[in-house]
Amino acid sequence: MPWYDFQCEDCEHVFEEQLSINDDRSGLICPQCGGKDIQRVFLTVAACVGKNNNSSSSSCSTESSTGG
Ligand SMILES: [Zn+2]
Repeated sequence: MPWYDFQCEDCEHVFEEQLSINDDRSGLICPQCGGKDIQRVFLTVAACVGKNNNSSSSSCSTESSTGG
């Protein structure tokens, strides 16, 4: 069974749960605070993710300026 990532709406705690395809995730409970407001999250590879862009010199700049 695949693992899915969930995040608690209360404490924003992210945890993993192993659910099957037909499994219902409505019974998920946050292992940290016990909250029931769980949302499915999609954790991707944090390659160019930055909360505070302090330094402008970022190595991962794939933006192509197509000005005209
Ligand atoms: Zn929580």
